[in-house]
Amino acid sequence: MSDAWLLIYMLLSLSSAALAVAVAAIVKAMRGAGEAGERVVEELRCPSCGYSMRRRFVEGDYVGHVVDFRCPRCGVSMVVSRIYVESAEPLRVKLFTRRRERREKHLNP
Ligand SMILES: [Zn+2]
Repeated sequence: MSDAWLLIYMLLSLSSAALAVAVAAIVKAMRGAGEAGERVVEELRCPSCGYSMRRRFVEGDYVGHVVDFRCPRCGVSMVVSRIYVESAEPLRVKLFTRRRERREKHLNP
């Protein structure tokens, strides 16, 4: 193989690798577009002491379902009390505006 062909071959394999990476990134971005700002969350409540916590929704769970997770306070199996879609967007906006407020406050005390 001559040097020129070797160079062309290297360039081709390099560009196809870059293309594959770019396509993978685009596919990932497109697939995540609908889910990026929101996620399904469930609220678990302890029927004994009322302790509640949130966790990522586990497929198959429903409201009233006794999950395989025990209350960290009293050890009783927890029950799904709520399932909802949580949007991550407002939190990000809130953090951003709060940071900006702080900066403005810093500038004008
Ligand atoms: Zn409890």
